[in-house]
Amino acid sequence: MLKIGSHVSFSDKGLLTATEEAVTYGSSTFMIYTGAPQNTRRKPIESLYIEEGKLAMDKAGIGEIVVHAPYIVNLGSYKDSTFDLAVQFLQEEIRRTDAIGVRNIVLHPGAYTDKDAEYGIARIAEGLNLVLEGTKETKVNIALETMAGKGTEIGRSFEELAQIIDKVGLNDRLTVCMDTCHMHDAGYDLIGDLDGTLEQFDRIVGLNRVAIVHVNDSKNPRGAGKDRHAPVGAGWLGYDAIRSIVHHDGLAGRPFILETPWIGKTDKTQRPMYEAEIALLRGDAAERFGESFFDHVERLHHFFGKQEVDHREFVLGTWDVLKNDAKAKKADPREPMERLYDLVAESDALPGDLSEEQINQRITAWFAGKQLLVNA
Ligand SMILES: [Zn+2]
Repeated sequence: MLKIGSHVSFSDKGLLTATEEAVTYGSSTFMIYTGAPQNTRRKPIESLYIEEGKLAMDKAGIGEIVVHAPYIVNLGSYKDSTFDLAVQFLQEEIRRTDAIGVRNIVLHPGAYTDKDAEYGIARIAEGLNLVLEGTKETKVNIALETMAGKGTEIGRSFEELAQIIDKVGLNDRLTVCMDTCHMHDAGYDLIGDLDGTLEQFDRIVGLNRVAIVHVNDSKNPRGAGKDRHAPVGAGWLGYDAIRSIVHHDGLAGRPFILETPWIGKTDKTQRPMYEAEIALLRGDAAERFGESFFDHVERLHHFFGKQEVDHREFVLGTWDVLKNDAKAKKADPREPMERLYDLVAESDALPGDLSEEQINQRITAWFAGKQLLVNA
């Protein structure tokens, strides 16, 4: 069975809250930060509702889940205080991850700031050696994430990851988290040459190291070095490329985790598209949303077809304008999904009683193309 889910909240009742949220999206896996991603304040293990959460996971058929380390720790820092804090915090985080019963913790390798990449790689390896040595009593692996290459971050190429792994003694506890947005932004061609890219990864790092895949579309063209996630189908990768990744034989069995942005006209109405993204990628949207869902998607094809709006052209064209035409962006800063939502909401293409979220879910399905209707 495909393991697919999203990032969920670990606040309030910890693992129980996380599981309950994941179930509402139809997830078979999920990812948590054990506290706020931008700080190192953490609740004691006893207040994370681990037993209750595990029972709820069992009941929902959720097996493997993933922890993400906070993104502020930097093992690449030349400043001893920053480096020491990262080592110490990651060790505690690994013990917490072990207590929750999770095998992999995702880590952004680090950034070299005012030094250089060679320094950063050596420093990160030094830190990983300390972290792994100090947590030998656990079975937790550190999953180094493929990065987009913004700023001075390390991990933007497969070679950088391989160099880190080579320098770490206990590297049987190092795995990799592939992020589709980051790889695309770093310049890898996941649309035109997915097989070639994965073969390249296999040669340099080894596909057997891949433990997790982050599934995100990108707001930027390939090689932009940016790291801005878009909902599945609403970015430069597109639905087809993402579907091919999720169903690729070389990645079979891994948890696929969405970290796509929430969509909505106001902060209050913003909703994640995870439920639709998961159902579409898994292929059970009819069971999840009912037959009328497909009638609505068919109506969207008809509606946009009449106006000669092609989903791929529209999405890429809008990002292009937002990126390259400051005046046009100022006049109309709406991102592709909001523009599409407005077109639909102003028309009578869909029944008037659908919520903003429901309309956006149908637009997400429209990104999957007419093939979706044939298969349904
Ligand atoms: Zn990450």
